[in-house]
Amino acid sequence: MSDLETIHRKVKTCALCPLSQTRTHAVPGAGNPNSEIVFVGEGPGKNEDLQGLPFVGAAGKYLEQLLESINLTRDDVFITNIVKCRPPNNRDPLPDEVSTCAPYLTRQLEIMQPKLIVTLGRHAMNFFLSNLRISTAHGQPKRYRGQVYLPLYHPAAGLYRAATRADIDADFLKIPLILNKIKVEQDKTPEPENKDEQLKLI
Ligand code: SF4
Repeated sequence: MSDLETIHRKVKTCALCPLSQTRTHAVPGAGNPNSEIVFVGEGPGKNEDLQGLPFVGAAGKYLEQLLESINLTRDDVFITNIVKCRPPNNRDPLPDEVSTCAPYLTRQLEIMQPKLIVTLGRHAMNFFLSNLRISTAHGQPKRYRGQVYLPLYHPAAGLYRAATRADIDADFLKIPLILNKIKVEQDKTPEPENKDEQLKLI
C-alpha cells in the first residue's frame, strides 16, 4: 500500500475532531497522485459527504468543464480539501477543525510534491497564503517558500455570478502557461533566489 493510500485509510476512519460525528463519509481526495497539479478546496459539501468523493455536485461538474478547457480530466489531476469531513449545514470549518485536519493535507502534499497547487476559494487560499484577498489575488500565481500557488475563486461562486464565472474561466486558462513557466525555471535553476517572489506570467 502506498503512503498516500495509508493516509486515505486513516482519514476514512478518523475521529480526531467533532466533524467525524456528523459526516456520512470522510473525503480524503481523489485523482492522479502523480499529477503536477493539486486542487485544494475548503471542505466537502453535501454531495461529497454522501459519495465520499471531492467536487461531485454542480460545482464539481463545472470544475470538470474547466479541466476540459485545458484538455484535462479529473483523473489527470488530484483534487482534495483542507478539511476532509463536511461541516454541518456547510458552515465554515472552525479553526480547531482546520488545525486538527491540516496534517493530512500537509502529508498528502509532501508525498505528491505537485508543481502547482490551485486553491479553490478564499478559505483554501488563505490556508496557504494568509494575507491575500481573493478579489485581487485570483489568477495571479504566487510562489511562497518554494511552492507555486494559483488562487482561484471557488467554482460554486461561478455558478451564480456571471462575472465571477468569466474570471474563473479566464484564470483557469492560465494553468498550462504557469505550469510550463515553472518547468522552464526549474530547468534553469533548482531554486529561485527569492523563494517568495510573485511568479510573473510573462
Ligand atoms: S475533519 Fe479531518 S480531523 Fe476531523 S474527523 Fe475528519 S479527517 Fe479527522
